[in-house]
Amino acid sequence: MANQSQYKSCTLCPRNCGVNRLEGELGFCRETADLRIATATIHFGEEPPVTVLGGSGTIFITGCNLRCAFCQNYQISQNGMGRTVDSDEFADICLRLQDEKAENINIVTGSHVIPSVVAGLERAKIRGLKIPVCWNSSAYETIEALEMLDGLVDIWLPDMKTLNPLISDSVFKAPDYPSVNKKAIRWMINHAPLKFETVADVTSGDIAAEKRFGGQTIEKMLSGVIVRHLVLPGRLEDTRLVLDWLKKHADVDDSGRARACISIMSQYTPVKFDETEMNRRKPALDCFQHRLMNENEFDAVQQMIADYDFSYLFYQELTEDTDWLPDFNNFQPFSNELSRTIWHWRQ
Ligand code: SF4
Repeated sequence: MANQSQYKSCTLCPRNCGVNRLEGELGFCRETADLRIATATIHFGEEPPVTVLGGSGTIFITGCNLRCAFCQNYQISQNGMGRTVDSDEFADICLRLQDEKAENINIVTGSHVIPSVVAGLERAKIRGLKIPVCWNSSAYETIEALEMLDGLVDIWLPDMKTLNPLISDSVFKAPDYPSVNKKAIRWMINHAPLKFETVADVTSGDIAAEKRFGGQTIEKMLSGVIVRHLVLPGRLEDTRLVLDWLKKHADVDDSGRARACISIMSQYTPVKFDETEMNRRKPALDCFQHRLMNENEFDAVQQMIADYDFSYLFYQELTEDTDWLPDFNNFQPFSNELSRTIWHWRQ
């Protein structure tokens, strides 16, 4: 059961800071009890069953309980960019995304403000929100926190960043991340069986859709889990640990049915921090190689993917393009091709 009193002595996530966020005290996530949002966009960069034709209605929440040293969204996740909204304005944003034909509402990095998101989603549903809701997080979340979202969220998009406690300790100061993350993802898989709907064919004159899907059948996810893993350059042995676990616990069950989709991301893109920031982050970034993945590594990842033979897999092609990194100072933080902003914190 979610309510605002949970901010009073905050144990909403495994950090267990115990601070009174209602009185403005800050814990690891550095957010008070206010729900703050940086931007809401129609986004075309998610996995095909989430993006589908209309794009995913992403709501980027300010703050984060993990604070990865390499975060591409650090302006909002770590530097506090965003504006406070109440549950009515949160519902307004959801409904506006629905009106703009978003396929779903996609809440990005909300683990530290679950009671407020629950209040906003409940308000939005009362006011007519019908499209599926996605929970897009690092999955550094307790089962009690996930249970607050049960019944409100249809699709879970958890990261499995690493199962190596030395890396999780260095990069986001959470040596317990592997054990917490595995439990959270198992809970999600048990609560959201895969369910898709076949969407109308793309040869009906929508040129953008034809370009994206090449005339293939499009499946829209109605329920389920997509576990995402970003390969860290120089740490391919850690990727193997993750794929091992996913093969055993997230691929097919005893009856041969897929339990979850797996999404392997090869586009680690080094953020160009200024010198002071870079010096501060250096010890954490030195645990792997803060650069684009090279072709040899990409070939090795391709081979791993082939070896594991997941039944439902998405993966990214190798790219040297760094233009997609967002700047949340801009009304349009991503490229026009990737997203369309419908709400921005500066408005
Ligand atoms: S939500 Fe924030 S304040 Fe609460 S326990 Fe987690 S990091 Fe600490």
